[in-house]
Amino acid sequence: MDARLESIKDTVLARNPGEAEFHQAVVEVFESLGPVHDRHPEFLEAAILERLCEPERQIIFRVPWTDDSGRVQINRGFRVEFNSALGPYKGGLRFHPSVYLGIVKFLGFEQIFKNALTGMPIGGGKGGSDFDPRGRSDAEVMRFCQSFMTELYRHIGEYTDVPAGDIGVGGREIGYLFGQYKRITNRYESGVLTGKGISWGGSLVRPEATGFGTVIFTQEMLKTRGTSFDGQRVVVSGSGNVAINAIAKAQTLGATVVACSDSSGYVVDPAGIDVDLLREVKEVERGRLKDYAERRAGVSYVDGGSVWDVDATVALPCATQNELDGGAAARLVRSGLLAVGEGANMPSTRDAVAVFQEAGVLFGPGKAANAGGVATSALEMQQNASRDSWSFEHTEERLTEIMVGIHDRCAATADEYGEPGNYVLGANIGGFVKVADAMLAQGLI
Ligand code: NDP
Repeated sequence: MDARLESIKDTVLARNPGEAEFHQAVVEVFESLGPVHDRHPEFLEAAILERLCEPERQIIFRVPWTDDSGRVQINRGFRVEFNSALGPYKGGLRFHPSVYLGIVKFLGFEQIFKNALTGMPIGGGKGGSDFDPRGRSDAEVMRFCQSFMTELYRHIGEYTDVPAGDIGVGGREIGYLFGQYKRITNRYESGVLTGKGISWGGSLVRPEATGFGTVIFTQEMLKTRGTSFDGQRVVVSGSGNVAINAIAKAQTLGATVVACSDSSGYVVDPAGIDVDLLREVKEVERGRLKDYAERRAGVSYVDGGSVWDVDATVALPCATQNELDGGAAARLVRSGLLAVGEGANMPSTRDAVAVFQEAGVLFGPGKAANAGGVATSALEMQQNASRDSWSFEHTEERLTEIMVGIHDRCAATADEYGEPGNYVLGANIGGFVKVADAMLAQGLI
């Protein structure tokens, strides 16, 4: 790392002790930014990096609710409003027992650059709770969401901060959150949340957007090597919103997705995942992958283990952070891997990224490859502001243009800085310069 950036990084890490994921995200970005500061010494003088690493506002709050047996439960809620240089804070809410400040800050930090790369007027933020929706009844999830929003509502708004979904937060949770916001504020402010249902202000393609976008980005990378998804053997991790839609899109483009996972295990389906059955099991019944395996011939279920033990030419990690380590990366490379498109945020460890890059594997980092979700959220905000609803075809066309644009911007930036094909560098520099320019223009705030 550049020596000037090294000392800024050391200060950031020391000021934010115990936040391992945030540290990892900061280091990864700083490692790309040396050459930018040679060209733009004004960024150092204005302390852009120091300011970028300090969120504009961090909110932590108590979320009390009662479970179905009448017992009081207490969770912790978070919203980190990281950077508003380009627009209102924008980023999802994660409900998962692993959530703490370090996770929310890593996600919020990544979101700043991701949102900048989309070319849309949105700043970066993220939030969530250590609440675990798994195994909870609809009524419990509703009471939790209502309590969460009873504090959050005062901090958000269509011109201030616009949350959406993430792990554990899908259409059901957004519905309960929106209902409570409307009730408290007495405003039908559609643009305050994205990922809404179609009949009450949502956008077509938003549920599919992150997974579809990841595949579109990866397809653009494959094209630079004269190939495509057609005929690829794909392995996907996760079986939630991002994973299911990545599987669907990859198979539409002619690939065979032979495996996917949940946090209990993985399935191997040599004929290609049956997306309709997977949606039925995971989205309608809220079941487990084991149930999928029991209902389809020729499928094997592996309890525990790693889905990255399955051979692949394209890997799409779509579950969670640090789920693919250096050892798994080396194994995938030996099995003939061509490309990795990160549907999840920071799913590959630093070691894994190094293995992919050294082996010449095409590697699309999450902040570029999974930006289709937030980009389509911004399209949802556009539709809300104009009280319009676009067709599926039109919205998908916009998503495709945006993803191809992000790919081309990352590739052109990597070329410009003398590292062709380095999408990590292209994404970090491309996103950073846009935010840094806006911060300089807006003065010391
Ligand atoms: P979902 O909650 O719909 O699905 C998450 C999937 O990942 C589930 O299969 C879950 O398994 C698995 N998973 C979650 N945590 C773990 C863990 N600790 N270990 C193993 N498996 C785990 O979430 P999404 O699909 O929305 O999000 C997936 C990833 O994509 C996240 O990194 C998120 O930040 C990122 N992302 C999501 C966007 C969106 O629009 N939703 C936008 C951009 C990025 P199980 O059911 O067993 O818990």
